[in-house]
Amino acid sequence: MTDLHRLSIRELAEGLKTAQFSSRELTQHYLNRIAKIDSQVHSFVTISPELALAEADAADGLLKSGMAGLMTGIPLAHKDIFCTKGIKTTAGSKMLDKFISPYDATVVAKGKEAGLVTLGKVNMDEFAMGSTSESSYYETTLNPWALDHVPGGSSGGSAAAVAADLAPIATGTDTGGSIRQPASFCGLTGLKPTYGRVSRFGMIAYASSLDQGGPIARSAEDCAYLMNVIAGHDAKDSTSVNKEADDYVANLNGTSVKGLRIGIPKQYFNVAGLDADVKARVEESLKKLEEMGAILVEIDLNMTEAYVPTYYLIAPAEASSNLSRFDGVRYGYRCENPVDLMDLYKRSRSEGFGPEVQRRILIGTYALSAGYYDAYYVKAQKVRRLIQQDFLKAFESVDVIAAPSAPTTAYKIGASLDPVEMYLGDIYTIAVNLAGLPAINAPVGFDKDNLPVGLQLIGNYWSESQLLSVVHQYQQATDWHSKRAAIAEENA
Ligand code: GLN
Repeated sequence: MTDLHRLSIRELAEGLKTAQFSSRELTQHYLNRIAKIDSQVHSFVTISPELALAEADAADGLLKSGMAGLMTGIPLAHKDIFCTKGIKTTAGSKMLDKFISPYDATVVAKGKEAGLVTLGKVNMDEFAMGSTSESSYYETTLNPWALDHVPGGSSGGSAAAVAADLAPIATGTDTGGSIRQPASFCGLTGLKPTYGRVSRFGMIAYASSLDQGGPIARSAEDCAYLMNVIAGHDAKDSTSVNKEADDYVANLNGTSVKGLRIGIPKQYFNVAGLDADVKARVEESLKKLEEMGAILVEIDLNMTEAYVPTYYLIAPAEASSNLSRFDGVRYGYRCENPVDLMDLYKRSRSEGFGPEVQRRILIGTYALSAGYYDAYYVKAQKVRRLIQQDFLKAFESVDVIAAPSAPTTAYKIGASLDPVEMYLGDIYTIAVNLAGLPAINAPVGFDKDNLPVGLQLIGNYWSESQLLSVVHQYQQATDWHSKRAAIAEENA
C-alpha cells in the first residue's frame, strides 16, 4: 500500500485490527517517508528506526493474539521535551545534546503501554521558549506548506512532521500556545488540555504552572484517540488531577453544536496586528458554526491588554528557577577546562544555553530578585488571578469562547527575530495557560499566500470532550482539515 499515510487514526486502527497491513508495514512506510522527505522539512532531531520496528513487531504480536488496544501498532512522534529511555532527549538545546534519560516520561510510558510505536523525537524551540522553532540548537524546521516559512513553535517539529505526513500524530506541549499555534501555522488540529489533565512527569519543565502536554494531529478525531491514551491521573506528578479522564473517542458526537453558545470577545477582534485574512477566515468559520446551529454571543474579556506582560513575567520567572538545575555539574553540558567552579558554572551555562533562553533567565531572575519580587512577580500573580476570573465570568453566559489562535499566519524564516514582536504574537494563546483552561486549534482555511489559518476554541475546565466534539462536527461539515501540503502528497 502506498497511501497508508492518508488514513486517519481510526482507519489505521481498523486496518491493523483486520490485518489489512501490519504495524511493521505501517511503521516502515513512515520510516521510508521520513528518510525521503524529512531532509526538506527537518522535523526530526532523532529518528529511531530499530526501536520503532521492534515496537511494531511487539504490536503485531498483540494484534495477532487479540490482546491489542485501541491504538496498538500506530506510529507517533514525540516532541523532544518528553524523556525517552534509550534515545536522546534534547529539549532543542545544546545543554542536553547528549542526554539520554534513564526513564520514560509518563506520556511516553502510556504510549508504550498502549502499543504505540515511537518513530523518533521531533524538533522544538530550545526548552520550548519561542514561537517559530528557530531557537532550537538543531536544524531549522520548515513549514511543509511553504518551506521558506516557520512551522510555528515551540512544538514546530511535531506540527511539521504531521503536516508532511511523516507521522500520523505527534505529542506536543503548550505553555503559552505551543500546541495551538504550530497547529494553526501548519493547518492541523491541536488540543491543549486543562492544566493537570496530562501528566508532566518526565516532561522537561519550562514554566511548571503553565506547561501541559497534548496531541497534534490532522483532526479532532485523531486527537481524541491520543487523548484516550495520555490523559489521566499520575501519582508521579503532584499537579496531575485525580479525576477520571473521559473517553474522548466515544464522546466525539457528545456535544451538539445546535444551541451551543459561542462567546466572541470584542477585544480579541480589535487587536492591532490581527491580519485581515486571519480575521476573515475565523469569521467565516464562526458563520459556518452558526449555520450549524451555534449561537454567537459578543462578550467582554477586559484583561486582554494584560496577557502579554503577565505571561512574560511569570513564564520567565518559573523558567529561571527550573533551568537553574542545568549547571554543568548535576545535569547537562559542561564546558572544557574550567579554571574553577565559578568558571565552570558560568561557561557551561553561557555555552550551553542559546540567546532566547538566556534572555528569559535574565528576565525571570530579575523579576524574582529580592528588590523586585513584589513589584513584578507578586503583581503578575495577582493579575493572573484577574485574568482567570475574567474567563470564569464569561463562562457564566457562554459554553466556549472563540478566537484566532494567532494574529498572523506562519512567519517567514528569520522574520520574527525581534523578541518583543514575537511575544506579541502570543496574545491569543497565553491567557488560556495563565487560567489553566483547555483550548483547541482547528484549521479553517488559508490566507492569500495559501498559508493555513486556525480557529481557537477555549473551553471551561475539563471540557476537552466538548471541544473535540464541536471541532469534530465542524470537520464533518467542512474539509479544511483534510487539505494537504504539496510535500505531503509526495510518495516515498
Ligand atoms: N511562545 C510562547 C513562549 O515562547 C509559548 C511557548 C510554549 O507554549 N512553550 O513562551
